[in-house]
Amino acid sequence: MRSVIVIGGGISGLAAAWQLRGHADVTVLESHTKVGGKLRTGTIAGIAVDEGAESLMALRPEAVELAAAVGLGDALCDPAKAPTTIWTDGGLRPLPPGHVMGIPTDPAALTGAGLLSPEGIARAMAEETLPATPLAEDCSVAQYLTARFGRETVDRLVEPLLGGVYAGRADRLSLRAAMPRIAALAEQGGPLLPALRRMRAAGAPRSAPVAVQGVAGGTGRLPRAVAEACGARVLTATTARSLHRLPGDRWRVSAMTGDGPLTMESDAVVLAVPAYEAAQLLRPHSPLAEEELSAIPHASTAVVTMAFSRSRAHFLPTGNGFLVPPVDGHLLKAASFLSNKWPWLHASAPETFVLRASMGRAGEESALARPDRHLIRAAIAELHRAVGPMGEPVAARVTRWDHGLPQYAVGHHARVSRIREATSKLPGLAVCGAAYEGVGVAACVATARTAARHLLTRP
Ligand SMILES: Cc1cc2nc3c(=O)[nH]c(=O)nc-3n(C[C@H](O)[C@H](O)[C@H](O)COP(=O)(O)OP(=O)(O)OC[C@H]3O[C@@H](n4cnc5c(N)ncnc54)[C@H](O)[C@@H]3O)c2cc1C
Repeated sequence: MRSVIVIGGGISGLAAAWQLRGHADVTVLESHTKVGGKLRTGTIAGIAVDEGAESLMALRPEAVELAAAVGLGDALCDPAKAPTTIWTDGGLRPLPPGHVMGIPTDPAALTGAGLLSPEGIARAMAEETLPATPLAEDCSVAQYLTARFGRETVDRLVEPLLGGVYAGRADRLSLRAAMPRIAALAEQGGPLLPALRRMRAAGAPRSAPVAVQGVAGGTGRLPRAVAEACGARVLTATTARSLHRLPGDRWRVSAMTGDGPLTMESDAVVLAVPAYEAAQLLRPHSPLAEEELSAIPHASTAVVTMAFSRSRAHFLPTGNGFLVPPVDGHLLKAASFLSNKWPWLHASAPETFVLRASMGRAGEESALARPDRHLIRAAIAELHRAVGPMGEPVAARVTRWDHGLPQYAVGHHARVSRIREATSKLPGLAVCGAAYEGVGVAACVATARTAARHLLTRP
């Protein structure tokens, strides 16, 4: 294999290009004017802020390893220590330590936390005494966890966490795909609470001290650094329109650039674009892959970033931010107090307080169909209710991520197996990205490694 065209210059495509360096002549096609996809660092009031992903999973190695490999090791930084906090019942309420994706390992510690009613806590505690319900078929997160812990735990603790990661809902997300660690325990049968406590006790000393890390200067530095280090030819403002198979298992890619059409040929192609884009490109070659990729739902979200003058704000919140249970009916699903959370950001602009508020969950697209200024007003109003009267921001901006987060619906793993089976019949083609085995940056990098390995080891 001498040449590879990678379609998509998000972190998945760039990680694939990095993995292929030294093995093939790689060209990356990216439709936007900049690489990075959902890793985008912009500025507000002259301060660098992340508009998409703001952290990298550090409990699994792929993202932080890649950052270190491309020279950003010194820029990796821990967030300030602070508990996960839920905005509910008129206040910010910290989740006691020891939860796993919102599932409390010690429900009794929730007493007095203002998160669950006494009945809800008692119901969660009863999980240990319930008969085993070994998971056989995939089911929704809500279906399994409601049966084990009761609806309140799911509505008020698990849903906010799922909203933060997937912008998804517990009654639709697959337990196996969205909560694989919980699903693995559920498959073994037996109560989850003692198993979760054992898992935490075993994992805590040897795993990374923090679950996530940031990149000083913004995670948008990561794709730029990978693009520079991988040695690939990166063509931005270049949108792949169609793929053609050529004799000898080669591929032709037709693209559109600002200067007109572009046609390129290669020995292999990596599709590192969202599922709905991959579906379009694969339509003539694999109707099955097209159908399965098209069936993956996506949630749209919006991020409202705001900068407050510290000297003029009436009040500034403490902590790293909060998550919101959808059952409370608020527009916000989360807020991240960037200036508190990331020491690098505070050091870069000590006079300013920057935060971002996220809105939009799967099925709530209509809530985002308002002009930016309405979303900003709504975000300010809810922030005031959540944290107190901060006053008006000196700058505010909305970043929309339409269809930005794939939803791993019940049966997602089986769907991905069918996609991989279908695409394996196309020699010299590999897929990677957020649609498959995890939406986080680390999981995306893992799929890129697999895609590169697949191409490099093809017969
Ligand atoms: C608001 C938000 C916050 C998030 N926060 C976090 C977080 O804190 N931590 C975390 O780990 N994950 C987070 N995620 C998830 C994570 O950022 C994404 O899942 C991941 O970055 C996806 O990378 P990707 O390369 O697979 O896809 P993308 O980033 O979508 O990249 C795909 C690229 O392909 C390009 N493209 C599409 N079609 C074509 C075409 N036809 N031709 C050429 N180019 C094309 C697109 O322009 C894009 O740049 C967040 C996601 C969002 C939306």
